[in-house]
Amino acid sequence: MKTIGIIGGGQLGLMIVEQAQILGAKTICLDPASDAPAFKICDEQIIAKFDDERALEELCQRSNVVTYEFENIPGDLLISLEKKYNIKQGFRPLFDSQDRVREKNNARTNGLPTADFAEVHDMESLIEGVKKIGYPCVFKTRTLGYDGHGQVVLKSEDDIAKAASFLPIPAILEEFIPFDFEASVVMVSDGEQIINFPIGRNIHTDGILDLCIVPAPISETLRKKIETLSKDFMRKCGYKGILTIEFFVKGDEIYFNEMAPRPHNSGHYTIEGCNTNQFMELCRFLLDMELQEPRLLSPTIMKNILGQDLESAEEIAEEKLPNVHVHIYGKTVSKPKRKMGHITFTEMEIAEYEQKWRSRFFQK
Ligand code: AMP
Repeated sequence: MKTIGIIGGGQLGLMIVEQAQILGAKTICLDPASDAPAFKICDEQIIAKFDDERALEELCQRSNVVTYEFENIPGDLLISLEKKYNIKQGFRPLFDSQDRVREKNNARTNGLPTADFAEVHDMESLIEGVKKIGYPCVFKTRTLGYDGHGQVVLKSEDDIAKAASFLPIPAILEEFIPFDFEASVVMVSDGEQIINFPIGRNIHTDGILDLCIVPAPISETLRKKIETLSKDFMRKCGYKGILTIEFFVKGDEIYFNEMAPRPHNSGHYTIEGCNTNQFMELCRFLLDMELQEPRLLSPTIMKNILGQDLESAEEIAEEKLPNVHVHIYGKTVSKPKRKMGHITFTEMEIAEYEQKWRSRFFQK
């Protein structure tokens, strides 16, 4: 029996463990929080910080293969470990995604269009950047930004002070794309074959993913374009394992926004919505098994459950309705805006969701 080591024990770790168990693998998770969701079901636990070198090495020693669900692992540690142990995805895709400027340069170099952008590190470069890009534009810190943290939309000169308050933290200034919608694609590569899950439309509220609607309302031509460019990108970059790319879609144009070399919130719908799911295919890759081609089983909608909607989600779970799949991650502390679970509605189109379900949640 093989053991998969997972750096991170959050909800992504939890769902990796669930699928690893179906495939008969053992799991060991490392996380600093003793109440991390994955710890409830994984076989072995290491409670340690993500920069604890000895603990990371212990995880590697006790595993046949190691993956990560946490993105900000210190590079120097992972690089030295990947030389000695089987960290199948390696540090490279993490390195390329940890800094927004590097990430966008890498996307462009490897065939994915991006919004215009400029590097910002002080007042002078901020003013220069605004001149080059024009209003409206989006200011973002280069590292450690997620779910809209560390971001300011600049509509006029009056907003410059808001962005300047983040300086001298290295930042990026991006052209504001008045997109029709956001979409993402989750792919898994074993180095030969690359599979992709059906493309979903993502709706964010306050910078946090709220709904994922699958299939995304795109033409066949646009679907093929996104899939082909994304797979070519993965191939050119030489990435193996799982990768999600988020795009802005405007008419027939797409703009790379960001990528994540781990299972993605926008791919949670695959658990019930597809014949196989993102966690299962990641595990198959890790266990050297052949990948399976994903297929959408029915129109599906994933609703994220943040703290403010946990009670509603628990009520809905009690109702035990067919085609309504409630996942509660079991986090001990519930806070507004914290991801506490998700609900997947299968055989569901957006019109029916709006009519029957929308009013049951605070987060509309
Ligand atoms: P990010 O952390 O880069 O994914 O940004 C969070 C959200 O802000 C995105 O999901 C978009 O809804 C919005 N956003 C970010 N960058 C841009 C942009 N250049 N143009 C328009 N909207 C953006």
